[in-house]
Amino acid sequence: MNDYLLDEARSRFGTRSLYPYQRLVAGTILNACRGDEEHARRLVAVLPTGGGKSLCFQLPASILEKPTLIVYPLLSLIADQQRRMREAGLRIAVFRGGQTKRERSDIVQTCRTGDLDAVLASPEVLDSSFGREAVEACGFGLAVIDEAHCVTEWGSSFRESYLKLGSLLRNLPVVVAFTATASARTLSGLGETLFEHEPVHHIIAHPDRPELRYTVIPVVSVLHSLTEGFQYAYVCPEPDPFLVHKAGDAFQLPAIVFCRTRGETERVARHLSAHTRIRNVRAYHAGLPSDERTRIEEWFFRADDAVLCATCAYGMGVDKSNIRTVVHTQAPSTIEAYVQEAGRAGRDKQAASAILLVAPGRNGSGQPATDTRMEKFMYDDRCRRESILEAFGARSDGCAGCDHCAGTREYEAAESTLIQKLIRTYGPTAAARVARGDRLRHASWVFLPGFGCLQDWPRGEIQDAIENFG
Ligand code: ADP
Ligand code: ZN
Repeated sequence: MNDYLLDEARSRFGTRSLYPYQRLVAGTILNACRGDEEHARRLVAVLPTGGGKSLCFQLPASILEKPTLIVYPLLSLIADQQRRMREAGLRIAVFRGGQTKRERSDIVQTCRTGDLDAVLASPEVLDSSFGREAVEACGFGLAVIDEAHCVTEWGSSFRESYLKLGSLLRNLPVVVAFTATASARTLSGLGETLFEHEPVHHIIAHPDRPELRYTVIPVVSVLHSLTEGFQYAYVCPEPDPFLVHKAGDAFQLPAIVFCRTRGETERVARHLSAHTRIRNVRAYHAGLPSDERTRIEEWFFRADDAVLCATCAYGMGVDKSNIRTVVHTQAPSTIEAYVQEAGRAGRDKQAASAILLVAPGRNGSGQPATDTRMEKFMYDDRCRRESILEAFGARSDGCAGCDHCAGTREYEAAESTLIQKLIRTYGPTAAARVARGDRLRHASWVFLPGFGCLQDWPRGEIQDAIENFG
């Protein structure tokens, strides 16, 4: 049988077989470009992270006569994708800030003579008088917007160019948006902003990630639970498909700890270096100089036994496939963000853990409100996977692993009563000293109830726990 999609995938990208959704999406795009599937001229394709989105548009870009425009949200993503497509022998150019008129018009010219397969760009570069002209002049047959959830997440706040993509791309024959999150909110946002209410065809893969095991752990101190988890953390050559993480279990490496603030990434990284045996731990956030960030990304990409403490600045489009554990020190503000970040684990389709630590008082002032779907995931007395899938409008075909289904779910942190009692009895300041077993103050303290009850805990952890209840 003549299988030109697979032949192209094999010869260009070295892929041995195609996933069914890749066939469907790449095939639909090609048909739409040839005018065979009119209804799919405006297409939203939703594939879970690790589902192999890139190939879905790289194959058409490589096969089609006319060049393809690919829009990415981040420059680092553009650089990475450019490298990968060039390795596959595609002829690629990039519209970037700081290019001279001459450089840009050369790219436009090369497009017109049919000597380019794809042009990569950020929305900001396109949202300029040059960008507008170029989109018209290059003769693109297809435009692709990767990580399109950014349109709805960022468009209305600090990246207004995203809002203009719809009108910019209006005249192109085929426009396809790719995203990993298909909640009703994201989909309707995309329809409005990108396609200005034109009819849109959707291809939506089932959003479940069967390789992920979900656990939500109530804790008194995030620092303490991280120390417990990383003290005996290990690299497992063959991930156990039945393992569901419990409070107090050692984490599997490599791991990411998603923190809410830049300061927290550094605090957590310092604490883990000081109090666990893990040596390979680094902090990563958008406040670091970009060459430093690149160095850390490369270091983490190669490491097997590493822990990266990161803000959400890490990850989009980063293809480290063997991450075994993603820990959150706090719930992100939406379930879309949680699924996106937890989905960094297990991209190699081997079992991996998504662990959410929930400390009391952490959703207090100054934090964006957690959405109700996120709260259902955390607190409803039911399967975690079911809660996630429900938020994305899908049914669960059975749970591949979560603390609820495994019967290991905890409803309260083990030390929670103890710490509250200490605070009630001694007040927060003295409670910390009593719990630590601080004899220096008064020799007679040794007789107080609870004296030294947390003497194994580093100072910062006791403090953290007491503040959480304060
Ligand atoms: P996504 O963007 O959907 O998260 P990517 O396109 O980055 O996913 O692909 C995820 C990983 O899966 C990459 O390492 C990629 O090389 C691999 N991959 C993609 N398609 C296939 C396939 N058909 N067979 C084997 N591996 C694949
Ligand atoms: Zn379950």
